[in-house]
Amino acid sequence: MPETLIKVDLNGSPYDNENIHNRWHPDIPMACWVNPGDDFILETYDWTGGYIKNNDSADDVRDVDLSTVHFLSGPVGVKGAEPGDLLVVELLDVGAKQDSLWGFNGFFSKKNGGGFLTEHFPFAQKSIWDISGLFTHSRHVPGVKFAGLIHPGLIGCLPDPKLLETWNTREVDFIKTAPDRVPPLANPPFSPTAHAGKAKGDLKAKIGAEGARTVPPREHGGNCDIKDLSRGSKIFFPVYVDGGGLSVGDLHFSQGDGEITFCGAIEMAGWVHMKVTLIKGGVAKYGIKNPIFKPSPITPTYNDYLIFEGISVDEYGKQHYLDVHVAYRQACLNAIEYLTKFGYTKAQAYAILGTAPVQGHISGVVDIPNACATLWLPTGIFDFDINPSEAGPVKHIKGGVDIPMSPDK
Ligand code: ZN
Repeated sequence: MPETLIKVDLNGSPYDNENIHNRWHPDIPMACWVNPGDDFILETYDWTGGYIKNNDSADDVRDVDLSTVHFLSGPVGVKGAEPGDLLVVELLDVGAKQDSLWGFNGFFSKKNGGGFLTEHFPFAQKSIWDISGLFTHSRHVPGVKFAGLIHPGLIGCLPDPKLLETWNTREVDFIKTAPDRVPPLANPPFSPTAHAGKAKGDLKAKIGAEGARTVPPREHGGNCDIKDLSRGSKIFFPVYVDGGGLSVGDLHFSQGDGEITFCGAIEMAGWVHMKVTLIKGGVAKYGIKNPIFKPSPITPTYNDYLIFEGISVDEYGKQHYLDVHVAYRQACLNAIEYLTKFGYTKAQAYAILGTAPVQGHISGVVDIPNACATLWLPTGIFDFDINPSEAGPVKHIKGGVDIPMSPDK
């Protein structure tokens, strides 16, 4: 049995667990140390540290304090790891905690986080997804069931002081370009809710004042939310500090490309069984700036898709120049509109795109003025045929069930 180096108690607060942290900073003390070649298990909270509950109200999604996230397990020090090395992490397996076989998907209120389609879904909503072995389904979204492509949304190594300074400078400067924007352009360091693991006193205060928030993906990886970084994959991370300082969290049972609902995929508490090795000097040897990875040898087989196109003309008719963000948004909105013809509410359709193994592709970025993005909707996840036909769509979803909403207070 591999050793479980970090345990979490889902009935306790992550702030009481000193093997957990919610900021990136070079001075966060290692939670534990391993040798290259070791395999071990880390348990994780869900990214909100248990704030979101398995019930039929979205009040918790509306009210969650986003300065507290993400609660990460680590950092794990790897003996002999030095700046410039590549830390090779094999995700031998990933799963849900046995005492918590469910996950959540939510849409944030526009006033508290927002999301990719926040103009269309401005209020907090939440669906609960039950996990039965490999599969998931939701009492709030009938007619779909799929196998999990289970993965950590967030994994990476600690930054060095120079990289941290780079992050804080560029993001704070960016916020200054539109300081009153809702939702904000980025999130600056915020000490009142910082959790610095084992750090105490002055060190804890320093980490709180300087520590980078965990929301964006950055050079070290971090919150990349890549659905294909699933169990069985192998990731090569740049090392910036002695020991590397590997942390992981934000586990997803399943997610569509883009994690468009933002709160987020199917979020769950769980565990990661991983093995670490080193490639000495690997950053320079391979010219690495951001992590690279090899995908899993096993993935759910959903090989038939209905594919929605979108171009960089927004939903208000405005022309944008080769803007992939706008184009993917149109592809998503087109898929949502289509699914309503089968009886889904728009919120249910949005939740399907955020949770199911939906693929997003950048299809064209050169044909001025329009970028083209495509959203690949797997047909096999539905209990019924969603393909277009001469007979027209049948309303298989009869209504009466929807995703709970909590309007702003
Ligand atoms: Zn997540």
